[in-house]
Amino acid sequence: MSLAEETIITAKWILTLESDALLLDHSVVIGADKILAVLPTAQAVTRYPNAQRIDLPQQMLMPGFVNCHGHAAMNLFKGLADDLPLMTWLEEHIWPAEGQWVDQQFVADGTKLAISEMLLSGTTCFSDMYFFPEVVADVAASMGMRATCYGPILDFPTPYGSGPDEYFEKILAAHDKFKHHPLIDIGFGPHAPYTVSDAPLKKVRMLSDQLNMPIQIHLHETEFEVSDALEKSGMRPSQRLDALDFWGPDVQAVHVTQLNQQDKDIFKEKGVHVIHCPQSNLKLASGFCPTHELQSAHINVALGTDGAASNNDLDMLSEMHSAALLAKAVSKDASALPALEAVKMATINGAIALGKEDQIGSIKVGKQADLISIDFSDLACVPMYDPVSQLVYSASRHQVNHVWVAGQLQVKDKALCHVNPSQLMTMAQAWAQKISAAAPRD
Ligand SMILES: [Zn+2]
Repeated sequence: MSLAEETIITAKWILTLESDALLLDHSVVIGADKILAVLPTAQAVTRYPNAQRIDLPQQMLMPGFVNCHGHAAMNLFKGLADDLPLMTWLEEHIWPAEGQWVDQQFVADGTKLAISEMLLSGTTCFSDMYFFPEVVADVAASMGMRATCYGPILDFPTPYGSGPDEYFEKILAAHDKFKHHPLIDIGFGPHAPYTVSDAPLKKVRMLSDQLNMPIQIHLHETEFEVSDALEKSGMRPSQRLDALDFWGPDVQAVHVTQLNQQDKDIFKEKGVHVIHCPQSNLKLASGFCPTHELQSAHINVALGTDGAASNNDLDMLSEMHSAALLAKAVSKDASALPALEAVKMATINGAIALGKEDQIGSIKVGKQADLISIDFSDLACVPMYDPVSQLVYSASRHQVNHVWVAGQLQVKDKALCHVNPSQLMTMAQAWAQKISAAAPRD
C-alpha cells in the first residue's frame, strides 16, 4: 500500500476554467481533499517525487459538473408518466404517486440510485429539492457526494409533514445536523409561488438571513403560471416575491421560461441566479428559458437536469448539449451560447449559484479536488480539432472515465468504486414492480 499523500494526475488536456485556454503537458496535483498544484508535468514530478501517478493519455481533465436542480429520489418514477403537460403530469400522476410511495426508504433508495447515475456521468455536486432532505443529505454524505439539499416548503400537507410549521421545524433540524459537514449544505426549497403563500415565503427570507441558508424556488416555469398570477393578484410572480423582499443573491430561480424587462431588472438588482433545465422544459412543453438575454443582462445562469421523471436522465453532458442548441434556436443566432460558455454553465456558474465558487467549479490551487476526466480515445472523437467542441457537441456520458469528489476517487475506468451496481438494479426493479402492481397502466 502506498503511503503517498499526493497524487499527480496527468492528462493530455486540462481545462481549468480559470482561463479559457487548454493546458497541454500539464498535471494537477491533489492531496487529501484539495488541489495542491497545477503545473507542467516535468515540474510536478520534481516537486512531488513521492506522489502517486495517474496517467490519462487521450483524456481531458476538468472540473466536475454541478447539477443545480433536481429531485434525486424521483429517479424511481423515471418513465412512470411521460408525454404530458406540466400540470396534468403533476396533479394526475406525480403528486398522487408521491402521496402513495414517498417515505424515508423511498427517498434513500431513489437518491442512492440518482447519485450513482450522476457520478457515472461526471456530476460531482448536485442540488436537490425534495421531501426528507435529511435523508438525501445522509445518503450523499455516506457516498462521499457533495450536495445542497433544499427542504420543501408548501402550503399543504405532503408525505413530509402536515404543513409549513412542520416543514420549517424539520428543515431547521437538518440544518443543525449538517451545518459543519464538509460536503453538505441544507437550504429552503419553497416549491413555487403558486404553492406557497406570503407568510411562509417571508419566514424563509427571515430564517435564511439569520442562518445563512440558501434558497431555491421554481419560478415562471410556464406561461400559465404568470398569466394565472396576473389574473389573481395583478402581479407577476417575480414582482410578488420582490414585494415580499424575498429575492437576494442567495436565491436560485429555477426554469424562468417567461422573462420580461422588469424580471431582468429584479434579478440583476437583487443578484438572483437562474437555473436553466432545458430538457425538462422541452419535455413538458413548458417553454424556453432565454439564456442569451439573461447572460447579456449579466445574470448568472447555471444548468440543472431537474428530476429524472421529467428529463428522463441526470446527464449533464447531454444537458449542456441541449442548452447550447436551444440557445441558438431561441435567439435565432448560431453564435449564442458557444461551447465553452455551455461548459461554464455546467460547472463554475453552478458553483456561483450555490455560493460555493470558493470551493469548486474550476481547477485552482486551494479549491476542492472535484475533478473528472473525459476519454477521447473513441472512434467517434476523431478527428480532434477542439476537445471543448467535442465535449459539448459530440461526447456522451459513457466517455466519463474518472471522477473525484473532494479528492476521493468515486469512478475509476468508467466503474463506480464504492457502489455495487447489481444491488442497485435489484433495488430499483423491486420498486418498479411494487409501483406498477399498485397502479396498473392502461
Ligand atoms: Zn424541479
